[in-house]
Amino acid sequence: MARLSDPVTILKGVGPTMAKRFAQLNIFTLQDLICHFPRGYEDRTRLVSIDKLEVDVPACFKAVVMNTPRTAHIRKGLDITRVQVADHTARLNLTFFNNKFAAEQLRYGEEYIFYGAVSGDFVGYSMTNPVFETMDAQPIATRRVLPIYPLTAGLSNAAVLKAVRQALSICDPPAEILPESVRQRYGILSADRAYYAIHEPQSMAEAELAKKRLIFEEFFVFSAGLSLMRAERARKKSKPYENLDLTPFYKSLPFTLTGAQQRAIDEILEDLRSGATMNRLVQGDVGSGKTMIAAAAAFCTIQNGHQAAMMAPTEILAEQHYHSLNKLFAPLGVKVTLLTGSMTVKQKREVRERIASGEVQFAVGTHALLSEATVFHDLGLVITDEQHRFGVAQRAKLSSKGQDPHLLVMSATPIPRTLALLMYGDLEVSIINELPPGRQPVETFLVNESYRARINAFIRKQKEENHQTFVVCPAVEESEELSVKAATVWAETLQQTVFPDLRIALIHGQMKAAEKEAAMAAFARGEADVLVATTVIEVGVDVPNATLMVIEDADRFGLSQLHQLRGRVGRGGAKSYCILTSQNRNPDTLGRLKALCKTTDGFRIAEEDLKLRGPGDFFGSRQSGLPAFRVANLSMDLQTLKDAQQASANWIDNEGTAQTPEGIALRARIGELFTRAEGTMN
Ligand code: ADP
Ligand code: MG
Repeated sequence: MARLSDPVTILKGVGPTMAKRFAQLNIFTLQDLICHFPRGYEDRTRLVSIDKLEVDVPACFKAVVMNTPRTAHIRKGLDITRVQVADHTARLNLTFFNNKFAAEQLRYGEEYIFYGAVSGDFVGYSMTNPVFETMDAQPIATRRVLPIYPLTAGLSNAAVLKAVRQALSICDPPAEILPESVRQRYGILSADRAYYAIHEPQSMAEAELAKKRLIFEEFFVFSAGLSLMRAERARKKSKPYENLDLTPFYKSLPFTLTGAQQRAIDEILEDLRSGATMNRLVQGDVGSGKTMIAAAAAFCTIQNGHQAAMMAPTEILAEQHYHSLNKLFAPLGVKVTLLTGSMTVKQKREVRERIASGEVQFAVGTHALLSEATVFHDLGLVITDEQHRFGVAQRAKLSSKGQDPHLLVMSATPIPRTLALLMYGDLEVSIINELPPGRQPVETFLVNESYRARINAFIRKQKEENHQTFVVCPAVEESEELSVKAATVWAETLQQTVFPDLRIALIHGQMKAAEKEAAMAAFARGEADVLVATTVIEVGVDVPNATLMVIEDADRFGLSQLHQLRGRVGRGGAKSYCILTSQNRNPDTLGRLKALCKTTDGFRIAEEDLKLRGPGDFFGSRQSGLPAFRVANLSMDLQTLKDAQQASANWIDNEGTAQTPEGIALRARIGELFTRAEGTMN
């Protein structure tokens, strides 16, 4: 027997060349191969006689070859092989294009199994390029439910299938991790059967069952992992903070806190003095003032003699936080510092020394805070901003930099409860459902192309009033490259033909991080009038002087994404506007966009979005911080998700610590998942 950890090269027929191709698909070991699940199936089980074949409906049929195949060389690169086959009901002419294999393999007088669809015209029926196998061969492409695998150049579906089959025959599939009780309760296949059936299902129904099992398993592992982390943290003790008097902090604020901000701060203070380690998510719409809540928590921590750290997903956001927090804290005698990847080696070393010595009390930065080189003197609180950009693993990593520091995460993405459980199952939640007073809601309009001249005039008007405009170009699904092209072309058009006298800048996802940051920072400094962008501007940067957001082909975006984009304006004192353009005429689509014009309640929009598009789209592809689920489709499998969450919670409560074989295997799998999630994040 082979082991799951053995390399694919131990398989017959898999040499270095094949191994390289498998590596393209991230397949290195037998386990990777067995976990390379089909993306779909083709039902090739139906066997009929030739006279029962229907036009354009593929099926299998048994037939004898009636003549020797003849190949005609039509021109360079085009050979046509013709052959006639028959069963007891009818004859059928087959045609193969450039198929040497068919020409050589099909023999006069022999019987084969074919799979294909007939096409018919007035001359009669014929079939083009059917697949075929000899009667005694083990079915690969006929008489079965055929798994369709994700492929790469040089690796055919049949090659993957053969390799998987071989792997399954020489080693056991991954161990069972679902407790018997759970499998029975939810009607779940055993691991043994599921791993075979997902690749070699006897029927479409069995393929479905196998898929259900694997989806359930993924969710179960993930939510059990979160629950374990939560239980683990709950056991951790922190010394209760004694000094909870924030009066100096409140006094230094240039405004009064909103009721929602105060409530969140009170919840945090309650955590900090409880003696248990805080794990709290602050969820509030863009502009709801989450930074001040983080500042209050940091102030309290520092006042009790510990350090605080705040991590932001981009350099520019980290810098912005640094400047506003430093302004707030310097008069209070608190030392704040900035640590980002783009600082010089010398700067970083100096900052790290000051962090290590404890001289700096509040470190604000990017991923650089996570690096090995950053050591804290006494880290008491970790804050992550715009949490949806970070993964569970990263949040664990920053926590590991202190003696069980308190954890505060902030997110502007309002998330419906089910999904919040999935992403933040290990956290308590505070919700900020109120904006600071005097904030004028962003006025939103939906228009079609006939308004183009007016849109342009409106952009110019912003400029005349010394304000700035964002123009977001259409999202091109599946292709960042096309989005980038659209934005680049649009920026050129605006500059050359519409606004030759304005300063048009461009920002998109294929620019280097440093270039993006520079473009964004320049715009924030007012060095351009119009910033043409792809969706990269979504996250947290404050450009209070920007008063207009134009979103082209808005129907191509999710509602939540539109809401996030809209949140880029309306952050200053001036009245701000959002214009959604769309050529779409579908009443449902237009209805959704009109709803967005009427409400600015992020949670309502999120619920609506989830109903309409499902969470897969909801999160956008790369920014969820969730591990990549292999089989589960977040938008399709909500019920399974709920079941798995419930099952894992029950399991943890009742038998989570039992040393059963399943329990041990599950823990190992959780460990793998969380380290893998870390590996795939930038
Ligand atoms: P977000 O929740 O999007 O992170 P910020 O913390 O960046 O929001 O706050 C947005 C703006 O609102 C900032 O300019 C901040 O100074 C301001 N602000 C925050 N709280 C209040 C308040 N209670 N009253 C007035 N302005 C506030
Ligand atoms: Mg913020």
